[in-house]
Amino acid sequence: MTHTPAAPDATPAAEAAQEPAAVTVARLRAAFDTGRTRPLAWRRAQLAGLRSLLTEQSDAFLAALRADLGKGTAEAYRTEIGFTLNELDHTVAHLEQWLQPRPATVPEVFRPAEARVVRDPLGVVLIIAPWNYPLQLALAPLVGALAAGNTAVLKPSELAPATSAAIARLLPRYLGPEAVAVVQGAVPETTALLEQRFDHIFYTGNGAVGRIVMAAAARHLTPVTLELGGKSPVVVEPGVDLAVTARRIAQGKFLNAGQTCVAPDYVLAIGASAKALESQLADAVRELYGEDPATAPEYGRIVNERHFDRLTALLDDGRTVTGGTHDRASRYLAPTVLADVSPEAPVMQAEIFGPVLPVVAVPDLDAAIAFINERDKPLALYAFTESPQTKRRLTEETSSGALSFGLPVSHLAMPELPFGGVGESGMGRYHGEYSIETFSHTKAVVDKPLA
Ligand code: NAD
Repeated sequence: MTHTPAAPDATPAAEAAQEPAAVTVARLRAAFDTGRTRPLAWRRAQLAGLRSLLTEQSDAFLAALRADLGKGTAEAYRTEIGFTLNELDHTVAHLEQWLQPRPATVPEVFRPAEARVVRDPLGVVLIIAPWNYPLQLALAPLVGALAAGNTAVLKPSELAPATSAAIARLLPRYLGPEAVAVVQGAVPETTALLEQRFDHIFYTGNGAVGRIVMAAAARHLTPVTLELGGKSPVVVEPGVDLAVTARRIAQGKFLNAGQTCVAPDYVLAIGASAKALESQLADAVRELYGEDPATAPEYGRIVNERHFDRLTALLDDGRTVTGGTHDRASRYLAPTVLADVSPEAPVMQAEIFGPVLPVVAVPDLDAAIAFINERDKPLALYAFTESPQTKRRLTEETSSGALSFGLPVSHLAMPELPFGGVGESGMGRYHGEYSIETFSHTKAVVDKPLA
């Protein structure tokens, strides 16, 4: 399928027509200051608009996602549109309950009095989205921002230009300019936005830019949520069902051609599991994408040549078990498994963020835990084990944004779970009620009678 109905909006002329950042923020702040965003009815109306945008314009978004990342229709629907609808519907179903004031106990000495905790909207929030799930990671935070009664500026990623243009063109048909402004652009446009005063900044992307965002926010004392990445390990113990293990690792790893923040980055295979896992991973790739993944309709492409070159430079590390083939013109890189990888190899230094899976052998669980703890705290840690003791040790002796036994990646699609990192993998959390917490001020209210 070739694209794209949304492409004309990506022209420099369209971007040049954007109003100054200060004007955009002033308009959204004036709207917020009227108080109109506070009632539940306004919030529900915005979420209904967002729902219509996703359902009525799904074809345009699917075409844009294919143009940007070669995303197959089924995967794109599930991980971008369906995911966001699920988040939205969960929010709509529970919002009234989440916004109820919560009574607090008043200590004897202050009685008679009542106390409660209320959730106050913050004001104008800025959402800066990355390119890898360019629709989901723009609109899922927006669900929380609007549900919490804020107005929002949305900055989609310039590295997913078709999706960015589709959002900018289509979203204003469903949400008014006093509720949400979409600002397209790259570093200069984002820098101009970051000079403005926001009431919260929600950034998803890499840690280097996360530091720029946080420094800019500090000038206005604006709180930030930083949804970052890093190397998410998978621990595999001997004795587990390696066919099931390999299939679930491959499903999580090669989704979106490995360009997923919570993708398994590398495998720490304990003892005898390393050798046995290799052939199972190769089988799992074949099962998922056939003999030639280049022709598999659901296998994606690398976002751009810079990332393609970065990834192909990692292919010499270790021994290639499966994959390794690539084509720069189409930015295709086969699902690749590397065995006998040394911890010092380049592929083990930074987040891979592509379809290359190194397997590192470690002698035992102690070594696996030490390996994890010597490095930055991961966004997610996965383990395949049947041992309650191993589960307990990994839970208590490691720190990561999330921990999942037997199921990589899927925790992010469970809206009752917080989604966020710790240390280098980020700060703050969202999804479901955690988004309301993030985009609200939790205010203490005391009421003591005067007589
Ligand atoms: P990116 O290049 O699209 O950048 C993200 C955003 O930052 C874009 O909107 C971009 O315009 C803006 N930006 C870039 N440079 C800037 C600058 N100098 N000043 C201000 N703004 C700037 O995306 P990326 O950073 O390549 O994203 C990939 C990273 O994001 C990976 O590390 C991945 O793990 C992480 N990630 C995390 C999550 C999560 O939810 N925790 C989700 C997806 C991706």
